[in-house]
Amino acid sequence: MEGMTGYVMPLEPPTVGWDIHCHTVFSDGTETPATLAECSKACGLRGVSISDHDTTAGWSEAQHAARAVGLPLLRGTEITAADDGVSVHMLGYQYDPDNAHIKKLFADTRQARLHRTRRMVELLSRDYPISWQSVVAQIHEGDNTTIGRPHIADALVAAGVYENRSQAFADAVNSSSKYYIPTPSPTAHEVVAAMKEAGGVIVIAHAGDLSRNRRLLSDEQIIALVREGLDGLEVWHRGNSAEQRVRLLDLARRYGLLVTGGSDWHGKGKPNALGENLTDEATVEAIVSRGALPLYR
Ligand SMILES: [Zn+2]
Ligand SMILES: [Zn+2]
Repeated sequence: MEGMTGYVMPLEPPTVGWDIHCHTVFSDGTETPATLAECSKACGLRGVSISDHDTTAGWSEAQHAARAVGLPLLRGTEITAADDGVSVHMLGYQYDPDNAHIKKLFADTRQARLHRTRRMVELLSRDYPISWQSVVAQIHEGDNTTIGRPHIADALVAAGVYENRSQAFADAVNSSSKYYIPTPSPTAHEVVAAMKEAGGVIVIAHAGDLSRNRRLLSDEQIIALVREGLDGLEVWHRGNSAEQRVRLLDLARRYGLLVTGGSDWHGKGKPNALGENLTDEATVEAIVSRGALPLYR
């Protein structure tokens, strides 16, 4: 299907292309941007994006690393939001990182997350051998990192309570555990508005992932965001079921949305393999042509 810009969306998962959903130590990944760039090169990716949670702190390191291995880089961020009780992750690409609205959004999120993480650690420390210090000790990049549940999980692993992060997430750190405190998030509408103001391209991440949400965004909710400037949907993601992929592709076709894919790589933090899901070259070109930043190469 050809939209007004000549963009042709992929109907099948691309077998070559870019991985544009990757986390590093600048949020909850275990590897540095240098390792991301080197592994991307080694596994034959055409290019890569750093898309840490709610921060641009890793961008400059990623730029150096990507240039060092000769891979082009999309600059991105995965932003945690909510829409009418549904948790929404949104991938923003190629936006002005100095935009005041975006900066305030990230600062507010960091503050809120810090508060709730402290409160969760207080509750957990009554029953488990962890402390605020032992959680902070799990941060790899000091103040650059958005502290959160992955760090609590890692502290529980370090204390010998669990064997790995996944076990901790399945139990004490789970959103259904009695220790869980939700993080107040900006609305998806606010994120779209801020991202448009900053000249970015905004995509809903893993919109069909039922393992994260009891309730997914409805078609109506997605369409409302499209009317406000939403650019695309991440269809090729391990969390999206076959049925959900069909639904998301259909929405993309009807509304002329970009169709992206990404691994959601977290290094050793999750089983997701770098490059296991890809975005095709045409979609990356569309992102670059819409975004405020030049492609970094
Ligand atoms: Zn996500
Ligand atoms: Zn992610």
